[in-house]
Amino acid sequence: MKVAIAGETGPDERRVALVPGLVSRLAEAGLKVVVEPGAGAAAGFLDDDYRDAGAAVDTGALDGAGAVLSVRPIGTHRLDVLAPNAITVSFLPVAQELDRVRALRDAGHTAFAMELVPRIARAQAMDALSSQAFVAGYRAALVAAERLPKFLPLAMTASGTIPPARVLVLGAGVAGLQAIATARRLGALVHAYDVRAAAAGEVRSLGAEFVDLELPTLEGTGGYARQMGEERARLQRELLAPHVAAADVLITTAAVPGRSAPLLVTAEMVAAMRPGSVVVDLAAESGGNVEGVKPGEEITVGGVLLWGARNVPSQLPAQASRLYSTNVVNLLLLMRSGETLAPDFDDEIISACCVTHRGEVRHAPTKDLLDNSGGEEQS
Ligand code: NAD
Repeated sequence: MKVAIAGETGPDERRVALVPGLVSRLAEAGLKVVVEPGAGAAAGFLDDDYRDAGAAVDTGALDGAGAVLSVRPIGTHRLDVLAPNAITVSFLPVAQELDRVRALRDAGHTAFAMELVPRIARAQAMDALSSQAFVAGYRAALVAAERLPKFLPLAMTASGTIPPARVLVLGAGVAGLQAIATARRLGALVHAYDVRAAAAGEVRSLGAEFVDLELPTLEGTGGYARQMGEERARLQRELLAPHVAAADVLITTAAVPGRSAPLLVTAEMVAAMRPGSVVVDLAAESGGNVEGVKPGEEITVGGVLLWGARNVPSQLPAQASRLYSTNVVNLLLLMRSGETLAPDFDDEIISACCVTHRGEVRHAPTKDLLDNSGGEEQS
């Protein structure tokens, strides 16, 4: 079976869905990898690297392909060139991409969304949300360190002592913990807060201090947080305000699956920070944890620099691609059947992340969204 690696078309997308180092894993499974020319270039992987790894490079890579791998979903105008009932694997934010889901369904393809890989131990090596959050967390700390007009570590010199910078991280999940670890390695004094009980121990194990607000924890299912009620949100902001004001760097990563990001820091709290302070909001694209932040923009408000994230993993494209490739290859090989691919819907991982299959929308929440989305369904 031919597996195509699509060139990415998004304006700020520099990742590629398969790095040359992983071509052999698909080839060993009897799959023929064909890459669109230049697909890996923005991540530093040349067409010759793919050829050396045993892949073909061809402008017609998608023509007749039984499977296509990409980071962003491929354009709907390209669905017709694939083999009938082809498998597509990519990030596919279903709620924002209903038209695309319809097109995939109508084309009869089997579409998998990497966001929907379940959070179970067996699926950890396929968990692209975690692998990309890991990259984003690292980058967040570096962005802040580079923009802060101060040292991060404590420095004792003959000319005087420089105190360490104070970094506050809100949301200590995968990205937050990596931001904490990176800021600690740079020598900053790090404090962190999260609504999940398990986070306190994880924060402390990295040498950071957990900010205990003495509020009830908000555990959800699958290791995720629950949404805050409005009163609890107000109280949390009030209790966090002095910690925000004392921070030189504020990094926010808080998210609740399927919802827009919770507002943790108001414009008033930002105004209380010292001029020169830096805010990095990794949740900017899903509404933002910090009031006033704009995704993909760097703005200064009252002397405080607000950095709004947009596709941060793509800013470290080589390693983000390497990790994503591993996730995608592991998912694809779960469907291996002889020298072809045949998804087994009795497998809970396959079943959970499949959105469309043979003309049907299999993912129930997406099907409900489509059923309730009105007119287009009658066509
Ligand atoms: P996420 O991206 O959904 O959220 C980021 C963090 O924000 C989470 O730690 C969450 O608790 C926190 N948060 C949400 N609302 C908040 C608020 N109002 N105030 C402060 N913090 C808030 O989550 P994530 O980083 O992808 O993962 C969270 C946890 O899930 C991980 O730390 C891990 O324990 C678990 N996990 C499990 C698996 C697995 O079992 N396969 C994989 C990945 C993660």
